[in-house]
Amino acid sequence: MSHNIPASADGASRRAAPEQLVGTRTAEPMSTGESEKRRAQAREHQQLLREWRRKKGVCIICAEREGKEGDHLPPKVLFPSPLRTNETPLFTFPVCSICNRSSSDEDFLFSVLLSFGLNQDAVLNDHEPTDPDLLALYRQTQEQFQDPRKGRRRSRLLQGLIGTDPKSGLPAIDTTKVPANQTLTKIAKSIYWSQTGGDILQNYNPGWWVAPFVDTSKPLFIEKHLKTSYAEVFWGDRFIYHCNVGHPEDGVGGFIWASLHFYTKKRVGNGMSWMLIAAPTKTSVNGKSLYDRFGAISGPATIEPGNEESANKTPGHIR
Ligand SMILES: [Zn+2]
Repeated sequence: MSHNIPASADGASRRAAPEQLVGTRTAEPMSTGESEKRRAQAREHQQLLREWRRKKGVCIICAEREGKEGDHLPPKVLFPSPLRTNETPLFTFPVCSICNRSSSDEDFLFSVLLSFGLNQDAVLNDHEPTDPDLLALYRQTQEQFQDPRKGRRRSRLLQGLIGTDPKSGLPAIDTTKVPANQTLTKIAKSIYWSQTGGDILQNYNPGWWVAPFVDTSKPLFIEKHLKTSYAEVFWGDRFIYHCNVGHPEDGVGGFIWASLHFYTKKRVGNGMSWMLIAAPTKTSVNGKSLYDRFGAISGPATIEPGNEESANKTPGHIR
């Protein structure tokens, strides 16, 4: 199976969001009610952030150092102007200076991956994308490579990800090599923090499964056995996030099962999607580790949990 972007024209359909999750819903302009809902969401977020700063809360990414700095999540680089509008709330999250700096290259590479991945027609036929938002993403990528300070280093970063497409024999990005895991887990951690009103996923020392293709028919036991809440978050009309969040008060702390979709304006299903599962090693369902259950279904974790002793909070147990 080829994962190379430019020549895998059928990749778009393979990578499409699972039917049972988003179907082929067309992104409609927002209704007044939707706008109001999003304004309320933004107000709540600001309040949480102010409170966090006041009590010198920790970084929501590493949960170790104080979250003195602000990071935009999803990363700003995914929303170049003119994609960014009033309806694209780029929320600021409290992060430490180390986490804030360490991921900018990954965010950049992830934006390149989207820029090519969502523009397969244009890349294959060697023309600029016609969709204005995708054109903005595409041009931003070009500019980043021409940047006199960072351009050369970024070109080198990308060089390491280029392989040869088996079909066309042309150079192509090998998507399996693009280090998207940190960018995606960072997005999941930030949404978990928002959704739980200030709980930190990293405190539960979870193992992460990050997969572009997931058989969603298998982890049904999540709905059967875990008390979770369902959340749907939109950023503009480009990025949609569905998740089941295990809230600490339900005894399912530190659990998230999420599906992230980046898509073009026309159709939700016509984009790139990832499934993220974070399960703490200590969470148990009917006496069995949830982490082990995921391992049995999805294979070894993409990101193994760290030293359990370093986790400063005990995850909930299901009784
Ligand atoms: Zn940090």
